[in-house]
Amino acid sequence: MKCPHCSLEAHRMDLHAHLVDEHEDAVTIGQEGESLFFEMTCPACDEHMKQPLRKRASMLRGYEREIRMVAFDLLLYHVQDQHG
Ligand SMILES: [Zn+2]
Ligand SMILES: [Zn+2]
Repeated sequence: MKCPHCSLEAHRMDLHAHLVDEHEDAVTIGQEGESLFFEMTCPACDEHMKQPLRKRASMLRGYEREIRMVAFDLLLYHVQDQHG
């Protein structure tokens, strides 16, 4: 697969790790009241993705990486489905 952010070619698992390590800024983690959400935009089609998280805002510290792992997993599914 090709990285949607920089065109690096890698297997899905390696690409996922690459996204988490190199493109963390592509995922925005936000807070609405007590709840958290993440959002990002697919660089290939500008589709905006936003998803609420079950974790409470007070638990965010230390979970940013985990949240990004979930977000980039979603992005890879989207890329496979829509741009594969
Ligand atoms: Zn990349
Ligand atoms: Zn897309």
